[in-house]
Amino acid sequence: MSVIYDRVALIGLGLIAGSMAHAMRRAGLAREIVGTARSPETRRIAAEIGLCDRIVETAAEAAHGADLVVLCVPVGAMAEVAAEIAPVLEPGATVTDVGSVKRDVIAQVGPHLPEGVHFVPGHPLAGTEHSGPRSGFAELFDNRYVLLTPDPDTDRGAVDRLRRLWEGCGANVEEMDADHHDLVLAVTSHTPHLIAYTMVGVADDLRRVTDSEVIKYSAAGFRDFTRIAASDPTMWRDVFLTNKDATLEILGRFTEELFALQRAIRRGDGEHLHAYFTRTRAIRRGIIEAGQDTDAPDFGRTKPPRRREDAAE
Ligand code: NAP
Repeated sequence: MSVIYDRVALIGLGLIAGSMAHAMRRAGLAREIVGTARSPETRRIAAEIGLCDRIVETAAEAAHGADLVVLCVPVGAMAEVAAEIAPVLEPGATVTDVGSVKRDVIAQVGPHLPEGVHFVPGHPLAGTEHSGPRSGFAELFDNRYVLLTPDPDTDRGAVDRLRRLWEGCGANVEEMDADHHDLVLAVTSHTPHLIAYTMVGVADDLRRVTDSEVIKYSAAGFRDFTRIAASDPTMWRDVFLTNKDATLEILGRFTEELFALQRAIRRGDGEHLHAYFTRTRAIRRGIIEAGQDTDAPDFGRTKPPRRREDAAE
């Protein structure tokens, strides 16, 4: 793989930025990777583990002279960072982001960017429940999707160049309208996270009654919920605040289905339950056939710990 960008600036040095740094190095996609994070502690750790070629103190310093700037901060912080880097961006540079919500990020970032700078919003559909500069790893994006949501007027060359970077990081890249992205992700990621948070919250309330039996006898289904519900609180707060309409739409449908299942249980309607569970089983088979999860029993838990946690994000 050959060099695609001379200088890539990573703003925010958590799971996604860290994994991008490792993946870009694995394939030699950037001549130089410059990184920055808000707190001195994160910058210190990143420098200590050699995450980037250079760690600098501010976002503006990192973006200066970069031909690709990647915003890897929580969705709610995108506008602030865009405003800070805007004055130093050079014409011809590309700005992208990795935020989990797209329409709101476009509204936050777009107005700050000067003429001649290409904005190509993006979202890697890969993650774990871990965060911080030590959590990244080069394989995170292997065979996962990255969705790009550029405006139709965006410079084609800039979009294709970013596409090649993500492909070099191991990902499959697709383009999509931002509103459609937000609806799809509300179904596949955002609402499931909310349900996991709720279920773990209910169990936590129960734990006070059952004196820790919920933890002691935790079964696989509940353990998977707890892993998802351990995801970063700031990131997920921002996701729900910024993908409000789509999440509420899917949550409404979810609640209706839940009531229908509740009624079937109350009435002893086994036929309804069986038909419903047969339909959902087919979806699981589809995901495995598409290579997006393992069919190993217990999600392959006996394998080494450095695996992707497919249900997060
Ligand atoms: P992370 O590990 O928590 O790292 C977030 C980084 O952003 C940290 O370096 C943090 O700096 C910095 N930051 C936080 N608040 C900031 C603020 N107000 N201003 C400036 N910098 C700030 O997060 P992540 O999981 O990599 O997520 C980053 C982005 O990727 C988010 O937009 C998220 O929606 C998206 N995403 C996440 C996943 C996932 O599963 N985790 C998957 C796909 C996309 P300090 O360390 O100094 O606080």
